[in-house]
Amino acid sequence: MRSPRHVIRPLVRLTLTSIAALAIGASTLVSPAAASSSDGGVRLHTNAELARTLAQIERAADGRVDVRSVGTSNEGRPLWFATLGTGPVRLLYVTQQHGDEPLGTESAIHALRTLALSDSATARQLRSKITLGILVRVNPDGHERNWRFNFDPDAQPEFGQVGQGYDINRYHNPEIAPEDNPVPEAAAVQRTYAAFRPAIVVDYHMQGRYVFPDGREITTSIFWPNNPDVSATAVRASKQVAVRVHGAFTDARAVVSQYPGGEFRGIARNAYGLRGSASLLVELSSLPPEREQFQVRTAYESMIDLAEAAGFGRLAGIDPAEADAIPLRGEELPGTSAATRHLEDDAA
Ligand SMILES: [Zn+2]
Repeated sequence: MRSPRHVIRPLVRLTLTSIAALAIGASTLVSPAAASSSDGGVRLHTNAELARTLAQIERAADGRVDVRSVGTSNEGRPLWFATLGTGPVRLLYVTQQHGDEPLGTESAIHALRTLALSDSATARQLRSKITLGILVRVNPDGHERNWRFNFDPDAQPEFGQVGQGYDINRYHNPEIAPEDNPVPEAAAVQRTYAAFRPAIVVDYHMQGRYVFPDGREITTSIFWPNNPDVSATAVRASKQVAVRVHGAFTDARAVVSQYPGGEFRGIARNAYGLRGSASLLVELSSLPPEREQFQVRTAYESMIDLAEAAGFGRLAGIDPAEADAIPLRGEELPGTSAATRHLEDDAA
């Protein structure tokens, strides 16, 4: 796509590289990604490890990061909210509403660490421009069981699975007050949103495997709010974020499509657009284990790039119409349907 973004892209890439390089040790210089699991994939943080890692980052950041619990799951696990920076531009990243879609959490841990610990002039300047909030692993009970839903086996959910729990990403409807929300994790996101008032919300998920007609496998799909009641202003800002995020993923060698999402108001992508924010859904494809490090890295780079673009005022000049030129998602990769059945927006 033709874009002013490409004019400034080389500078941005240098900035990103400098922040990342200064923040991490030589052993991880090439790829600031996660530890490997026995199958070659990313070894996921357990819930206990996540708590420890966030506390370590908070300590090492020497006052630049605040980590606190903004609620608890039905099984009493804390819902972690990490904030960084002192600036007026507020961004909210949300990860792992669906317990079996974990990679955005791993990316967010690395992005938080990089943005918090780098002492480069650019990083310091960025921290004065933005306040980044990250709701890390909104669904710890689902993560514990490696399933989509929260844990509420006695519920009769309108959206969810009897015997398991609710689909958290159907309960963000602005007309549901947090105190009336049957899903504590969704209520915590609603409350955090209301208190934090972010200009930008990005919600990280995972999908199955899809290919473009030319055979290239799609590694990432993104989408903005499409509920008809979302204001034109919010849609425009969401599309500007989409164009920027598309560019960052593409530069990281991801293959990006639009996500074919529905109009339901309870989905975070629509709900926070209805409340006036620029809102974006990011779906990482469920690639084989040996490509999970790549997936984590692409999302990590896009998280840092978007924070920089927002902080340094690089979103306003983007033509939102470019988002409509992002290609639509292609067909499912043959033979992968049963193995990677992620319902996502389609179920609404
Ligand atoms: Zn999901």
